[in-house]
Amino acid sequence: MNQPLTARQADKPRVEMNKLAKRLRRETGQAIADFNMIEAGDKIMVCLSGGKDSFALLDILLYLREHAPIDFDIVAVNLDQKQPGFPAEVLPNYLTQIGVPFHIENEDTYSIVKRVIPEGKTTCSLCSRLRRGVLYRVAGELGATKIALGHHRDDILQTLFLNMFFGGKLKSMPPKLMSDDGRNIVIRPLAYCREKDLEAWAEARAFPIIPCNLCGSQPNLQRQQVKQMLNEWDKRFPGRIETMFRSLSNVVPSHLLDPRLFNFRDLKATGTPDPDGDLAFDPVELPQAVQFMPREDD
Ligand code: SF4
Repeated sequence: MNQPLTARQADKPRVEMNKLAKRLRRETGQAIADFNMIEAGDKIMVCLSGGKDSFALLDILLYLREHAPIDFDIVAVNLDQKQPGFPAEVLPNYLTQIGVPFHIENEDTYSIVKRVIPEGKTTCSLCSRLRRGVLYRVAGELGATKIALGHHRDDILQTLFLNMFFGGKLKSMPPKLMSDDGRNIVIRPLAYCREKDLEAWAEARAFPIIPCNLCGSQPNLQRQQVKQMLNEWDKRFPGRIETMFRSLSNVVPSHLLDPRLFNFRDLKATGTPDPDGDLAFDPVELPQAVQFMPREDD
């Protein structure tokens, strides 16, 4: 027979949700501060696709705006790409209900993608390139100073591995960048947030989520594989994802192989020990398990 819940147990979901809300807001605030993403007087164009991440982004930024020491504006923008079955009323209804200024841009990129990409091939890369171009133009028309996208920590790590595995580049997704047309600053305020937290937040807040595969496109297979690899690592080696993510803010160009980042050519012995020198194999830096591994000559 089920035991009745104690008051403390019954309160647990609410406590968990409060913790989650605090964590997401703290991480977003931290990323904004670390990369100076938002300044006084900014008009932030929040790109709202209808997916969980962009809903959460808007939600968290609205909260932070209320509590930030600086004034900035928010305008939500959705690009209706004319995918068959796209429920065009969902976002305007939601945004009107929460009282956020918004703009819906109608542009049939769906037909272009269908015309250009052969049947059976994934259409997401052209689709997002076209979407980006339209959003940059709209930002100019609306007088937005920054464009905010809902990419999170897991997107950033996946992109890092995709670039390494398939592009031969040590490169990820920057939290703040100048757009390719040189006219916009793009920010990713959720850069420190975990996808599973955003999922839980989207569920708790009951955002009216619109799926992104109405167009029938298959998700990018390589990205799916990398995502699965990272999820498996996360299960098998707790903490690995966090450590890997931290490494992105801890880059040591002198210990990589790119002569454009470090002047190896002119490197000379100075005769003075360097306190930050080659610590890569310093036992103090290594986890216990590795420290106590036998050396080959033991
Ligand atoms: S799933 Fe469809 S709408 Fe979403 S990015 Fe891919 S092509 Fe575009």
